[in-house]
Amino acid sequence: MINSMLNKSVAVFGLGKSGMAVVRELKQRGIHIIAWDNNENLRNQAAQYGASIQNLIDVDFSSIEFLVISPGIPHTYPEPHPIAKKAKDAGVKIIDDIELFVSTYTQPHYIGITGSNGKSTTCALVYHILKENDIETAIGGNFGIPVFDLPQLSKDGWYVLEMSSYQLELTPSMDFDVAAILNITPDHLSRHNGLEGYINAKEKIFNRKTKKDVLNVVAVDDEHTKKIFKNLSQNSNKSYKTIPVSFDKKVDGFYVNNKGILIDNTKNEKKEIFDLNELENLNGKHNWQNILVAFAICKYVGLSVPKIIKALKTFAPLEHRAEYVKNIMGVDFINDSKATNADATKYTIQSLNDVYWIIGGRKKEGGIDLLIPELSKGYIKRIFTIGECEKEFYNQVKKSVPSYKCHKLDKAVNKAFKLALKDLKKGSVKNPVILLSPACASFDQYNSFEQRGKVFKNIVEQIYLKYNKD
Ligand code: ADP
Repeated sequence: MINSMLNKSVAVFGLGKSGMAVVRELKQRGIHIIAWDNNENLRNQAAQYGASIQNLIDVDFSSIEFLVISPGIPHTYPEPHPIAKKAKDAGVKIIDDIELFVSTYTQPHYIGITGSNGKSTTCALVYHILKENDIETAIGGNFGIPVFDLPQLSKDGWYVLEMSSYQLELTPSMDFDVAAILNITPDHLSRHNGLEGYINAKEKIFNRKTKKDVLNVVAVDDEHTKKIFKNLSQNSNKSYKTIPVSFDKKVDGFYVNNKGILIDNTKNEKKEIFDLNELENLNGKHNWQNILVAFAICKYVGLSVPKIIKALKTFAPLEHRAEYVKNIMGVDFINDSKATNADATKYTIQSLNDVYWIIGGRKKEGGIDLLIPELSKGYIKRIFTIGECEKEFYNQVKKSVPSYKCHKLDKAVNKAFKLALKDLKKGSVKNPVILLSPACASFDQYNSFEQRGKVFKNIVEQIYLKYNKD
């Protein structure tokens, strides 16, 4: 694709990591680029790479081939950004960096993984398993590494791409060898004009262009993905096979039985594969879902079961995803800052006991309604609220579990620690876990979930130093 653009101009709007990588790549190939970002520093950097800097709102789009947009910028709902609207009115296609990449590097294989939660973990799992088995691979996309920063793979290589709903809307040429969806819970609804639009965007991962005999993997653990599976299985014009997986019920693909054993039922013979309880780094049903998807993908790539299992055992969890931080005087600390919605939090808390739970931040659609039934089950001992929505959350939880308004993370962690020590001494808990799993976005008090998680780990470190000194 890139070679066909030599005599044309490409507009790049949004000069974050992925936009900047596009500028660099296209300039190296001698393509004329007009770039824009509201941030002056980024504009200057793009200028150094040779882009011509102009506010795209003032540019005549008749000479532009494509508008490469940052996936975070709205181009349809809730309202298209004026620059996106201008491109559309001029009949200019709006794409993202991945579209440009996949239509340029068509030789290697592509694995695409989407879902509301668990994408990064599952991509990391697949990448780890392939890498451990000496398969040529690279991981990127929404995972945080722009595709144009990835190494160029040969025709035998496998790109593992994490795909957000935004990216799927901007990547019409994608033709995955394996496409997988983990789950769907309402998120980013305003950008997709509601739940139906969000599901439609996610389903695009299964669109194929030319490839045949490819694989779809669908975790059928929620009503929306079940429907997607049904649609894919019923489609008569099939160039693909679709495998269902489930963390808690028998399906014709891979599933986990009530003892935690991964079962291969693809040939209807319920073959026991592996006891998932052995994987200490991947606790909880949500991780079982991630493992099932990764397992199905790696089998398709051609790895044997023992090779996959061996690699699974050496997987280290990603930072900020139910990440074990430390034990101080019998109290565990877990950083699950990436849990930015109730569904992500639900599975983390369900996999723990004696939970001292820190929640709050910028509320997402539905807040913590879905978590209220957990409060009567006894394993959540105390709740500490922080952030913008703390009053609302506090009022929702205080009747069921002893709760404390702390507003700031620092206060919440220290209070939780004091109370956990007190409860330990009294003998009312055995293994208290102080868990930051906020079920909220971080932007009310932090720049990102990463920053929030790092602050949490710093506070834990301070506590550790204080108690080690005394
Ligand atoms: P994503 O990339 O989709 O945001 P991550 O792998 O970064 O997903 O995990 C985000 C949060 O969701 C973490 O808190 C993690 O514990 C939780 N999580 C991971 N896998 C799943 C899953 N399959 N279902 C629900 N929650 C999950």
